[in-house]
Amino acid sequence: MAGAAVTLLVPVLRGAAPTPLALPPLPYAPDALEPHLSARTLDFHYNRHHQGYLDNLNRLVAGTPLAAQSLEAIIAAVAGKPEQQGLFNNAAQVWNHSFFWNCMKPNGGGKPVGRLLARIEKDFKSYDAFRAAFEEAALTQFGSGWAWLVQDGETLRIVKTANADTPLTRGQIPLLTCDVWEHAYYLDYQNRRKAFVQVFLDHLVNWDFVAGRVHGGS
Ligand code: FE
Repeated sequence: MAGAAVTLLVPVLRGAAPTPLALPPLPYAPDALEPHLSARTLDFHYNRHHQGYLDNLNRLVAGTPLAAQSLEAIIAAVAGKPEQQGLFNNAAQVWNHSFFWNCMKPNGGGKPVGRLLARIEKDFKSYDAFRAAFEEAALTQFGSGWAWLVQDGETLRIVKTANADTPLTRGQIPLLTCDVWEHAYYLDYQNRRKAFVQVFLDHLVNWDFVAGRVHGGS
């Protein structure tokens, strides 16, 4: 089910399965996304939240056979097992955040170009319709979670997941995500999730990264 998607994780989280697992470095300086996301937000989000999930994960797998596995293998091994929900939550949050950092860049956002724009227009009718649907998913995810653009077979879709859930376990290929946990935006935008999501779409999305993950099609 998740085999194809797991293979596609390699460019995002390069490297073997070190024990303990380590975070990939941020793909830009902590202040590189200012003024849209502050260095303070990136510092807390990466060094406290993301690192915290990783520390929990390493603690939970220590001394078990999973300690020798890659992050993706751990996620696949514990997904859907209620007795391992805590382990899944931390492993998936490590992956989701590493992916999220790659989905942004300085001077990003706006309308994509080329083949990616054509794929979006094929499946959503227009970029504006895609943008509205992504924003809607991000704003209607009640509580903590994530909004995603995924590839499901040959079709691009927008989905939302709660808490740590990730499309990886649904056989979908994640193409783009926006973290809508409050910790992602509260220091800069307080409770204004909509303002954060609009800034994400208009100024931060790394469309080159997204385009590089789309498979097949014309
Ligand atoms: Fe987060």
